[in-house]
Amino acid sequence: MEFFGLSEGTFRFLLFVSIFLTMSIAEAMMPRRRRRFSRARRWTTNLGIMLSDYVLVVAVTFIVPVTALITALWAEANGWGLLNFLEMPVWLEWLIAILVLDLVIWAQHLVTHKVPLLWRFHRVHHSDLEMDASTAIRFHPVEIVFSIFVKSAAVLLLGPAAAAVVVFEALVNGSALFNHANFKLPKMLDAIVRKIFVTPDMHRVHHSVHPHETDSNYGFFLSIWDQLFGTYISQPRDGHEQMAVGLNKWRDESPTRWTWTILLPFHEPESTGSPGKKTPPGQ
Ligand SMILES: [Zn+2]
Repeated sequence: MEFFGLSEGTFRFLLFVSIFLTMSIAEAMMPRRRRRFSRARRWTTNLGIMLSDYVLVVAVTFIVPVTALITALWAEANGWGLLNFLEMPVWLEWLIAILVLDLVIWAQHLVTHKVPLLWRFHRVHHSDLEMDASTAIRFHPVEIVFSIFVKSAAVLLLGPAAAAVVVFEALVNGSALFNHANFKLPKMLDAIVRKIFVTPDMHRVHHSVHPHETDSNYGFFLSIWDQLFGTYISQPRDGHEQMAVGLNKWRDESPTRWTWTILLPFHEPESTGSPGKKTPPGQ
């Protein structure tokens, strides 16, 4: 499958590099928070984690050749999935596909906070001590593989057009780079954009050390699900500049190291933090 004359892999890679660079320039020009930890160490680790993701995904898909796109192409060819049964205009089919897939990703994110085994892997993402565009690629390889299977199952049931799946994944990945970025979106613009899309100020609440804030704002692309299902918190209790980002248990420089981070799922669980004891708002 080709996009703008490029293979799907090249299209994804070039899109990632261009958005990552754009966000990094925006972070340098309009930073939201002062940096407390060396960017070089964090970036090396986060990029290292992304490379580990790539290696595991290549290995797993070599054994079990399943991705959201492969599943969509198979469903299209074999008439699987709800949308392959219904007659509707293409624009409506794409809209439904993007809404439903985004809801699935939102629900998957919520579940990774609630199921202790899944949280062990997802806390790798939350252990980053700062937030910037590189945090968006800090997901443990096991969580990435889990996510591929969740998306593939959703695609099999829904039957969206294969191109809509690629566009959806590009939107979510691009949006994650945007809403993890450490740059200041003007307040007025933030208020308008977050009515539909997740903004950096909205997603930063999710990376707070306070468990009730960590367990909110699960969206990566659309903000509507959190607003609809009552998991929306508008602003962090301690303010954007002062709030602590990361997990309470690990406040030293360990999360800036690759080996420590890859092995984090096998460390003891936190005594506080999602999905353990909850700190009620205002404490
Ligand atoms: Zn999370």
